[in-house]
Amino acid sequence: MSALQGLMQDHPLMISSLLEYAARYHGDREIVTLTGPGRRHRYNYADSAARARRLAKALQALGVEPGDRIATLAWNNYRHFELFYGVSGIGAVLHTVNPRLFEDQIRYILRHAEDRFVFLEPDFVPLMEKLAPDLPAVKGWFVLCEEPEMPDTALPGAQSYETLIGGHAPEFDWPVFDENTASSMCYTSGTTGDPKGVLYSHRSTVLHALASAQNSAFGLSAEDAVMPMANMYHASAWALPYICPMVGAKLVLSGRHADGPTLHDLITTEQVTFASGVPTVWTMLFQHLDATGGTLDSLNKVLIGGSAAPQSMIDRFRDRYGVQVLHIWGMTETSPLGVVSTPTPRVNALPRQDRDAILIKQGRAQYGIELKITDEAGNELPHDGQSSGALWVRGPWVARAYYGREDEPLLDADGWFPTGDVATIDPYGYMKITDRTKDVIKSGGEWISSVDVENHAMSHPDVQMAAVIGVYHPKWEERPLLVVVPRPGRTVEPESILKHLEGRITRWWMPDAVVVRDSLPLTATGKVSKLTLRDEYRDYLVDR
Ligand code: AMP
Repeated sequence: MSALQGLMQDHPLMISSLLEYAARYHGDREIVTLTGPGRRHRYNYADSAARARRLAKALQALGVEPGDRIATLAWNNYRHFELFYGVSGIGAVLHTVNPRLFEDQIRYILRHAEDRFVFLEPDFVPLMEKLAPDLPAVKGWFVLCEEPEMPDTALPGAQSYETLIGGHAPEFDWPVFDENTASSMCYTSGTTGDPKGVLYSHRSTVLHALASAQNSAFGLSAEDAVMPMANMYHASAWALPYICPMVGAKLVLSGRHADGPTLHDLITTEQVTFASGVPTVWTMLFQHLDATGGTLDSLNKVLIGGSAAPQSMIDRFRDRYGVQVLHIWGMTETSPLGVVSTPTPRVNALPRQDRDAILIKQGRAQYGIELKITDEAGNELPHDGQSSGALWVRGPWVARAYYGREDEPLLDADGWFPTGDVATIDPYGYMKITDRTKDVIKSGGEWISSVDVENHAMSHPDVQMAAVIGVYHPKWEERPLLVVVPRPGRTVEPESILKHLEGRITRWWMPDAVVVRDSLPLTATGKVSKLTLRDEYRDYLVDR
């Protein structure tokens, strides 16, 4: 027996519709970009949509087909924002590349995605000149600048972005197609092995934006001025470039700048009400406020995620500046929203201390995301706030496979995605991350692969064993500590190992310290017990 079909209109969820909505109903709402010291570019959603349409036409004129990958190496700015819409809007795939990765990883990612065109900031021209010979799939290079600002470059046929879009009129009807079409992709290094591509769809992106904007999550509206300090190349700046047009919020983009004085100046002069970023960003802002005695009068809410938000940071935002911290947890694979620490009436009714103890947790599930925790045998654990186990998630904006690895099973039999995080869930529904099973380090919001650093350390002639662990750092949350055991009969100096690593790994992956010991603690299965090492050296960088 076939079910009775509903009689409602069937409109695919298209990313282009977000910007067109903003252009029509919030056309004068501003997008402000800090383009250099003391220089701001200002325009509005109507202007932005017109330029995104010109870009879409330019891409089609270049022969870009649906499904083609188009890479960006770009900061948070208005041109990058236009690419979010111009590329996805014609059915092509916006591939945001993290320019802070090591050269080898960027080469790997661009080759793996087989990007056809690359849009890059002038800063990255020298890097791309080096990589271009290894990227045969790339058919053209577009530098995100005006024609007179074009650097001298050996990149074949490189053109400025403004020249590219300048030749096209702003009238364009966005195509409508299957909402499950791929819209954008982002590689994550948050697992061991090669970076893996998460491939979002129009449907997942629009549903995720709708869910994130809700009051129970970010709570955004047309009255907000939003400054995303998470990078547009890392999980789409936590989807704010989609959410802001959807609600008509003003967007403030800080370019490549993330220092305390710049943040404070932008918040104050642009009357920012809502900002988002990893804890390191707010540590830098606080340092500036300590030095200047500045205030944050316009700011209502700050979204903190990527790493755990410290209690002192939450308290200071609330008590000194009257700002509500929304703690969030998510992953590139979850678009990224998983949980948010907004209160519920039950939690608000608790005595202050109990309420604070709940709201410092990563947060509660939002409609659309299911959570479960399991023990080592895969049995589901109770949501009692005590039982800690592997965290799994499921929902319409959670990845089911990685790009180019569609045949590798990623989910369990019931469709749950393993996060690599360890968590508790309390009876109020709030999830708290207690540990991580993936062997990686997160420093200032970006991943460092312990395995890569260990492999290079072990190529030192005097090193027998090496283990890299993440230890607490007051500014970067975590920094790598390298623990080595010398070969029998040899001695090894920390400096010689650091020298050996130079040029083999990117500068910000360099361990902050090297500890030499006679042996490493092992688990029952003979692996290095990182848990024991992390416990032992937890405060190593603070105590020194
Ligand atoms: P990424 O895919 O790079 O966005 O990283 C996602 C991972 O970052 C998660 O699986 C967690 O390990 C970590 N993470 C994200 N948000 C938080 C948070 N609020 N507290 C602790 N860890 C977090």
